[in-house]
Amino acid sequence: MKILYAVSEAVPYAKTGGLADVAGVLPKALAKLGHEVNLILPLYRKIKLEQYELQNILSYDIKLGNNSHKVTIWRGATPGSTLGTLFVDIPEFYDRDGLYQIKCVDYSDNFERYAAFSIAICELMPRMKFIPDIVHLQDWHTSLIAPLLRTKYRGKGMDVAKIILTIHNLSFQGIFPKAKFDLLGFPEQDFFGRGFEFWGDVNLLKSGIMNSDFITTVSPRYAEEIQSMEFGFGLEGVLHSRANRLVGILNGIDTEEWNPALDRDIIRNYKADDLRPKILCKSFLQDEVNLGVDLHAPILGFVGRLTDQKGFDLIAEIMTNLAKDGFQIVVLGTGDPKYHKMLEDLKERYPKNLSYSFTFDNHLAHVIYAGADMFLMPSKFEPCGLGQMISLAYGTIPIVRETGGLADTVIDADADKTNGNGFVFSEYTDSALYANLTRAKKAYADSERWKELMRRAVSLDFSWDKSAQKYLDLFSRALTL
Ligand code: ADP
Repeated sequence: MKILYAVSEAVPYAKTGGLADVAGVLPKALAKLGHEVNLILPLYRKIKLEQYELQNILSYDIKLGNNSHKVTIWRGATPGSTLGTLFVDIPEFYDRDGLYQIKCVDYSDNFERYAAFSIAICELMPRMKFIPDIVHLQDWHTSLIAPLLRTKYRGKGMDVAKIILTIHNLSFQGIFPKAKFDLLGFPEQDFFGRGFEFWGDVNLLKSGIMNSDFITTVSPRYAEEIQSMEFGFGLEGVLHSRANRLVGILNGIDTEEWNPALDRDIIRNYKADDLRPKILCKSFLQDEVNLGVDLHAPILGFVGRLTDQKGFDLIAEIMTNLAKDGFQIVVLGTGDPKYHKMLEDLKERYPKNLSYSFTFDNHLAHVIYAGADMFLMPSKFEPCGLGQMISLAYGTIPIVRETGGLADTVIDADADKTNGNGFVFSEYTDSALYANLTRAKKAYADSERWKELMRRAVSLDFSWDKSAQKYLDLFSRALTL
């Protein structure tokens, strides 16, 4: 199969969250299974041509409204693989410090930036004579490709492809004022007819949903949840109307990057049949984040975006109790300034129990996943979540709310003594979170039980193999339509 994988970020080139992790592995896994795959993303400032030895393969112009933009395409190759990586270079749009925003504020021309990316892709494929069987789009940034292929690019080569759109997070939809729609040059009736319209604005994700052959999302539970008002962010009706084309496929993790037996970022490697070195990773972490080495104190780790989604407000409410119970909490993340302020205030009151770092630091993330005892994800909603799977791989027991992919991957250790691998709570309240942590602490105090939990966690398989096969099965199904 020929597959085009279009995405706004991918490891190792550019990353703000889990989307980049997925895009860094799934295309590779599909290529490994014998398919010809092209991964395509914007050439952001931080992606250096020399570092990846990128070759210039094509240049052409595209139009957006009355403006013309010069597009340069760069290609990198993964030696020995059928995976190609293509970069769309439009300096006025991507040669910037941030991917989507600067100082927590979205760029005002994000519509133009990702519309140009989508148009450039539609123009590119016939030019490089790569006519994919499957065009796989990710999130709102590339959703516009679906209506483009169904209308303006019909009969221009790529329209034979089946379109799969994966929703990684429904809370980001690409909603812009109606005036932006006019830049695309669609006839006016397509505003409604092609599903762009959303309460008078343009909604790029909605149009993607309406014009794709299949819509996938990143866990079976989330595929159900997003058809309800609580999780649908206004698109529940649209998604429900396409329920027979909506499929949940759980993400995997990159087991080469996230593997305690091979990890070069951690002080000692360990594996399921000998977890003893993990304690050294714990003391190293305590030292590194200036919490004072105390091997008995349970450490709660958090690595992620500091946003409302992640349930961070619950922590503030129970911090006094957590300090009293002797927990140490290590937070690594960037995001909403209100959470930065909240953590700064808490740190003043509980200097011995809390450490934070408001940076994006892959090395420290590894150190936390390995060194913490428990991993905190009390998310309000969580499409899939990678943190809980990574932490399980490191024998760091997840504390999660029962939602989305968290519900699909973490089994409560009290409810299921044989398969339990974490601690799960349902109600989104600080008291429910605290009760859950109290249960976890009790299990932690029973060292034999805890060791067994860690062993079970490290032995789980979250590699991409199964999920990649599920995508291929879906692609094959799409090709029979
Ligand atoms: P989301 O996609 O909602 O951001 P996920 O749990 O799916 O959340 O994925 C987050 C990914 O980004 C994980 O690989 C996590 O380790 C990483 N990550 C998030 N914030 C940081 C940070 N500040 N420093 C290093 N890695 C981070």
